[in-house]
Amino acid sequence: MPSVYIKTYGCQMNERDSEAVAAQLVAKGYTLARGEATADVILLNTCSVRDLAEQKALRKMENVAAEVRRHRPGVVLGFIGCMAQSRGQELIDRLPDVDLVVGTQKFHRTADYLDDILAGRRAKIVDVAEEQGSEATIRQHLLNGNAQKAATAFVSIMQGCNQYCTFCIVPYTRGPERSRTIPDIVAECRELAERGVKEITLLGQIVTSYGRRRSPHPAFPPAAPQPLAQSATNATAPQGGESKGARLAGSSAGAHDDKSPFVQLLEAVHQIEGLERIRFTSPHPKGYGDDLIEAYGRLPKLVESAHLPVQSGSDRVLKLMHRGYTRQRYLGIIEKLRHCQPRMGISTDIIVGFPGETEDDFQQTMSLTREVEFDQVYLFKYSPRRDTPAAEMAGQVPQPVKEERNQRLLLLVNEIGRRKYEQLVGQQMQILVEGPSRKNPARMMGRTRSNKIVVFDGSERHRGQLLEVRITRAGSFTLYGDPTVINLD
Ligand code: SAM
Repeated sequence: MPSVYIKTYGCQMNERDSEAVAAQLVAKGYTLARGEATADVILLNTCSVRDLAEQKALRKMENVAAEVRRHRPGVVLGFIGCMAQSRGQELIDRLPDVDLVVGTQKFHRTADYLDDILAGRRAKIVDVAEEQGSEATIRQHLLNGNAQKAATAFVSIMQGCNQYCTFCIVPYTRGPERSRTIPDIVAECRELAERGVKEITLLGQIVTSYGRRRSPHPAFPPAAPQPLAQSATNATAPQGGESKGARLAGSSAGAHDDKSPFVQLLEAVHQIEGLERIRFTSPHPKGYGDDLIEAYGRLPKLVESAHLPVQSGSDRVLKLMHRGYTRQRYLGIIEKLRHCQPRMGISTDIIVGFPGETEDDFQQTMSLTREVEFDQVYLFKYSPRRDTPAAEMAGQVPQPVKEERNQRLLLLVNEIGRRKYEQLVGQQMQILVEGPSRKNPARMMGRTRSNKIVVFDGSERHRGQLLEVRITRAGSFTLYGDPTVINLD
C-alpha cells in the first residue's frame, strides 16, 4: 500500500485534523512515511490565520513539487485544511503538480479521493463544499501509531466560529459553529480512556460557545438522558446568547438549566473512569461564565489551566476587533479564576499592531500583561487577511512599528515568565509523563496540571504515569524536575 506523509501548519485543531486523516488512511491500509522523501502521497495541512503561514505552505509545496517532478513523478500532492478551503482551485492553477485540494468540511473524504487518484479513476480533485454533519467526522485517533501508549489526546467537540472578530479569517475557512452531541463526544473520550489515555483536551475555535446554536445537521439525535448532563446539541440559546443557562432541547427543566452546554459537557466527560485530567482550548472571555469558573473548584479532573485569548489591553481596540468584552471584564474573570484556584496557569494570545493601535493602546496591552502576569503569551503581529473587515480599516500600522512593539512585549513576557517559573523551584508538582523530551530525547517530559513542561531523567516505563516531582531548576518556559526525591520515599 502507498505511504503518506502529512505536514501540519498552525493550531492544535489542525494537528487533530491531520491525526484523524492519518488514522483514516492507516485504517485503509496506507502506511505513514517518516518524511516526504520516502512518501507516495504528500499532504500539507494548511493554516490561514496569518499570511506567513500561507506563504510557508506555498513555498513548501513549490519545493516539493519541483523535486517530485524531477525524480518521482508518480507521487500524489495535496493541500488540505484552511488554505485549501479559502483558495480552492486557485491552488492547482498556481501549482499544476498539485492533485488534490480538500477543504475543512471534507477531511473525512481524503482517503477515498486518494484511492481514486492513485487508481487513475480521477486526475485532479478539488472539494471545498460545505457538508452537513462534518463536525462529527473528526474522530479517529492514531495514538502514536498504536505502537506506544499515548498519555494524552485531543478531541474535537465542534467546528467553525460565529464570533467574526474583525481580524480573523476562521469563520470563512471553518464555516459557522456546529457542535457534536454530548453522547458522541463522551463515547470517543471513553474509548480513548479504555486505550490508556489519561488526559483529554477538548478542542474548538470557541469552546465556551459549545452547543449554543442549533446544528444544521438533520440527523442530530434528540437528547438521550445522561446521568449528569443531557445532550447539548440542539441548544436553543437566544442569538448571541452568552447567558449562562442555555435551555437544551430534550432536557427537562431543572438542575442543568443554569449551566452552559459546555459545562454540562465537562461534567459528562468528568465521569469517565480511567480519565485523570481534562483540558480545553480555546474559550472566549465573552462566554466565561461563573458556572465555568465554579467548575474548576468542583471537578477535580479539570486541571488548573486556562488559555484565555485577550488580544489587546485597550478597550478601544477590543471594540474595533469586535471581541465583545472589556479590559475590566477580562481582569474580573482572571481574578475569579485565581480566587477559585490560586495555582491556575493562565496563558493568552495577543495581537500587536492592529489597525489604529496607538502607542497609548499598546501601553494598555503592556500594563494588562504586567497586571495579569501571564504564565505564557502567544504573540502575533497583526496580519491583514482577505475579506476580513480589519484589512480594510484605516490606520494600518507600519511593519517596523509592529516589529518594535512585538519586541518590547516579548521582553516583558519573557521577564514575567522567568520570574514565575523561578518561583516554582523547590515545589512539588504532579506531572503526567507524555514521552521523550523533544529537545533531548534521552530525557522524558511531562506536563503539570497548570500546563508547564517538566523535563526529567526517566525512561519509557514512565510514559502515561502521573508522577510527583520536585522542581530543581527553571529554564526558558521549561522546568526541570527530580521524581526520585519523592517517589522513592
Ligand atoms: N478562537 C480563539 C479566539 O479568538 O479567542 C483563537 C483562535 S486563532 C486561530 C489563534 C490566534 O491567532 C488568535 O487568538 C489571534 O491572537 C491570532 N490571530 C488571528 N487572526 C490574526 C491575524 N489576522 N493577524 C495576527 N494574528 C491573528
